[in-house]
Amino acid sequence: MQDYFDALLHSSVFGVFIYQENGQIVFANKRFCDILGFESESELIGKSILEFLTAEEQKEIEPIIRRRLADERFRFELNNHYYKTKSSSLIPVSTFSYTIDYNNKPSGLVLVLDRRKEISNQKLFFALSQINQLIVRVDNEDELLRETVNILVDKVGYIACAAGYIDKDNLFRQIYTKANTQELEQALSSLTIGTDPNTPYGKGTVSRAYHTKKVSLISNMDKMPYTSYWHSYLKTFNVNSACTIPILKFGKVEYIILIHDSTPDTFSEDHMHLLEEISLDLSFALEKIEKDHFSNLITTAINNGFDFVIVTDDKFNIVYVNDRVLETTGYTKDELIGKNHSIFVYCEEPKEFYDMLTSGKAYSGVIKYKIKDGSLKDFIVNILPYTKKDKITNYIVTGKEVKDQDKLLEELEKALNYDSLTNLLNLNGFRGSVKRFIKRASYEKQLGALFIMNPIGFKSINEAYGFEIGNKVLVLIASRLRSFFRAYDVIAKLESDRFGVLAKDFRSEEDIVALASRLMLELSKPYIVSEDKIQLSFSIGISFFPKDALNTQELFDKAYIALSDAKQKGENQIGFFNKDIQEQTMKKFKVLSELSLAVSNKSFVAFYQPYVDRYKNISGAEALMRLVRNGQIVPPVEFIETLEKSPYIIDAEDIILNQVFDDIEHYKPKVPISINLSLKSLLKRNLVQYISSQLHHRGLPSSNILNIEIIERSLIESFDYIKRLIEEFKGLNIHFSLDDFGTGYSSLSYLSKLKVEFLKIDISFVRKLDDPETKKIVKAIITISKELSIKTIAEGVETPKQFEELSSLGCDYFQGFLFYKPMAREEFFELVRKHKV
Ligand code: C2E
Ligand code: CA
Ligand code: CA
Repeated sequence: MQDYFDALLHSSVFGVFIYQENGQIVFANKRFCDILGFESESELIGKSILEFLTAEEQKEIEPIIRRRLADERFRFELNNHYYKTKSSSLIPVSTFSYTIDYNNKPSGLVLVLDRRKEISNQKLFFALSQINQLIVRVDNEDELLRETVNILVDKVGYIACAAGYIDKDNLFRQIYTKANTQELEQALSSLTIGTDPNTPYGKGTVSRAYHTKKVSLISNMDKMPYTSYWHSYLKTFNVNSACTIPILKFGKVEYIILIHDSTPDTFSEDHMHLLEEISLDLSFALEKIEKDHFSNLITTAINNGFDFVIVTDDKFNIVYVNDRVLETTGYTKDELIGKNHSIFVYCEEPKEFYDMLTSGKAYSGVIKYKIKDGSLKDFIVNILPYTKKDKITNYIVTGKEVKDQDKLLEELEKALNYDSLTNLLNLNGFRGSVKRFIKRASYEKQLGALFIMNPIGFKSINEAYGFEIGNKVLVLIASRLRSFFRAYDVIAKLESDRFGVLAKDFRSEEDIVALASRLMLELSKPYIVSEDKIQLSFSIGISFFPKDALNTQELFDKAYIALSDAKQKGENQIGFFNKDIQEQTMKKFKVLSELSLAVSNKSFVAFYQPYVDRYKNISGAEALMRLVRNGQIVPPVEFIETLEKSPYIIDAEDIILNQVFDDIEHYKPKVPISINLSLKSLLKRNLVQYISSQLHHRGLPSSNILNIEIIERSLIESFDYIKRLIEEFKGLNIHFSLDDFGTGYSSLSYLSKLKVEFLKIDISFVRKLDDPETKKIVKAIITISKELSIKTIAEGVETPKQFEELSSLGCDYFQGFLFYKPMAREEFFELVRKHKV
């Protein structure tokens, strides 16, 4: 046994230490020193382990230390917590502790498992999977970089990340920079980093990755030369690890991703294969984007519904023509490719025409084309500049021959405002409608919502099934939109595969959110074309008039921003420009999924807050729900509203109820405990039988141990039911308190009809006692309660003055920070044990 123990103490896997009084370390092994960043054991001896814990964890661990030193024997395991190192970075660890005898004294033995490697691996796997998903959905370099940076910081959790390129002065130019705080983001983005090894800022990971075309990392800044140039940045923001991932395009380093993290050893040689894989994946994506670029151009043109397509480069030299061009003009392909678009022009083209196009604007109109035999033909054409990284790279000319001169005007009007494929309005026509709506809605105070919708990866439908099928799908989408929206909503097909809808005349933004989710369901049903069943996902962006914008341009811009937001979120997502709406829905979603997890992991605990009588003696306590998140205690403000609306409230309250029973059984307190029950739990079938059998099972006396707090709202909704419940519980000697009295639909008349034992005067009254009106109300509540033999408890008593005034008004009990805050079970029962009642 002794050998075994010795082996353990000198383990190279586990950090081991032993503590005695006040958590003072009396033994530490080498591994533990390494974990905390100390050179030798002697440096650690004499320090208290509490110094290495965060404030919250100190609170949790202190009672454990006390119990061990009082020679209580038990095992305690803590996963997912942190130790602070000598240089105050946080190290994720799991600990296992026991009580042992050491030098003839009861002591704590703690085994510490360093979880850095495990967590770094998890993080990198997660990063890799996220980046893989990203690669599938992005179609431009900009988005690839921006999203990679977002993923690494927001989702994976590294503290900072920058994406950029090496400019002609050998400096790292950051295009996107992101960090978990604004200060850090600012600092990183203004850092000078280069690749010339002769400069003091040219020897870091960026430089090495650039020159070797391989991932380069620093696992621990402390031990690294060449980083002194950035010393103050690294120290200020506690950056301890760095990693640079090069992204190559056709063998050349095109972009650089730099990641910083605070945990030392986040990146190590062990992770090299994962990091290299990220580098390869991103490089692959970059090349794919480049190759897709051209096919993108053609798709855009053809999905615009015109049959004649010419693509030129930025100088109007023709790079692509489709067969219809050859048919209508009589030229062969060879005669056109490489020639300038002016080959078709019968005389000099107006300068304004080119000025307009080169400034990035689209052109629509009728142009006379000179065809091969020298004759002139009228074409209705749209010319669209195609931009990449803010530079025009191509022009796309789509056109249609005008055969009947008489119909020219009509056709022109149609071509200008309608999409010839779907017969919906086109972008131009849609803009006009939106403009007219805004003009009218401004004084009619109407609400409008602009939807912009885009099937995801439509290009691949074109590639896989051909344009004909692709176009049929677009027509089907158009008809689904037509039947989904009301007749007075405006529906349009915008550029390429995008659709727009202006929804008018609805009551609130929330209605539109609901409408949009239904629309998403409708759109994502499969499309049947000939024999094929085609499944599409969509992104929808929505902006609101007048909330987001008061003019047409802004409303469009914001809907586009919302659309790209939706795209970032993944498939079948709806984005809003208005972040309030978005954040609320997102937040609720996050909280809900956390709550569902918390229910299955039983991560709810009861804290206890005593209340006192006029002599400040503890007369009882209220059990208040807390959520445990990563070892931290989260108060109800953050979740109770969502929890109460969800079905999880029943299980959560059941967990609390069981803890309270366990605690009563174990500690046998001398005062009653109140629990808060929501209407959902109160309505649970067999509640009375359940509680009664629990009492019986555990051999607890039923009198004066449990009290149930209900809020007024529950009464309003189910008065008769609750009335009966109160009677039934009375048979078990369990009484009720009416909580938050006076906040809602308070009606004193309820009081006479219900036999409750306590009434809790809401904190809002206590806060406003200085106001004479409020004081009058409180006095009335207390007087009537006395007449009905109901005892009053004032909530939220924070000052001696409030206590005195409430006392003199005849209030019976007082709960509030002036006396006690809610506390963990050990602390509370210890307090009651010592307290005379
Ligand atoms: P509540 O039932 O009115 O509980 C009293 C709240 O007032 C507690 O907040 C308590 O910490 C706080 N409080 C007590 N004294 C003072 C004071 O002097 N000053 C101030 N500012 N606050 C004081 P807590 O624990 O955050 O709980 C908030 C609410 O969450 C509770 O209000 C209750 O409505 C709800 N809640 C807590 N546990 C449960 C539960 O198990 N079930 C349900 N349905 N709701 C619960
Ligand atoms: Ca309460
Ligand atoms: Ca209350």
